[in-house]
Amino acid sequence: MSSMETLNDSGAAYLRLVQQMHKGLAAAGRSADSAFLTAVSKTQPWEVVEPVLRAGHRRFGENRVQEARERWEPVRDDWAGLELRLIGPLQSNKAGEAVAFFDVIETVDRDKIARALADEIQRQGRRPVTYVQVNIGEEEQKAGILPAEADGFIRECRDVFGLEVEGLMCIPPVEGPRGPYFGLLRKIAERNGVGHLSMGMSDDFEAALAFGANEIRVGTAIFGVR
Ligand SMILES: *Cc1c(COP(=O)(O)O)cnc(C)c1O
Repeated sequence: MSSMETLNDSGAAYLRLVQQMHKGLAAAGRSADSAFLTAVSKTQPWEVVEPVLRAGHRRFGENRVQEARERWEPVRDDWAGLELRLIGPLQSNKAGEAVAFFDVIETVDRDKIARALADEIQRQGRRPVTYVQVNIGEEEQKAGILPAEADGFIRECRDVFGLEVEGLMCIPPVEGPRGPYFGLLRKIAERNGVGHLSMGMSDDFEAALAFGANEIRVGTAIFGVR
């Protein structure tokens, strides 16, 4: 990018978001490096994704294996340091592709997926970082292990399947205050020795940061409405 060129909309929105994130962290008495941003590029056209790359961002979240591969495989080598994270539900028949492609898989939520990932990690000799997704509001339509089953599932991921479970991820209900849900995810993480909390999206990341999020996943506020 030449020095005369200005960042177009999504690039500027990205820079604003980073500032807001740092403000939120400061307000919570936290250091600027205690949380990071995953830019959720799912379904967004390349025209809005590229400016964010040009602004220097390298960490992106996608919710479908196929769509992510189509988008990123052709350009992956052009953007050094790219980190691609699966934040959408995973089918066990896509576990091989997911292990081969993603750096982080945030949506481990049942035995079948944990086993399929473990088998593929063994087979491919490639080990993406894995998080467990918790259905923190116990909503019918949402993926994730139920809070009451989280301790047992995390133990099983570790002891039976050899997955490290470095983080927990949740998407709280859209209605009402999110704080109690973020607080609950944090408690589950603490009692299981899980270090990383992936929580907070466009409309609730400030609350998530106040409750200890280490990662916020933001799409709309950067790229616009999908
Ligand atoms: C789409 C999505 C996001 C981003 O949501 P926005 O409201 O657009 O910021 C974050 N996390 C997950 C799991 C998503 O599916």
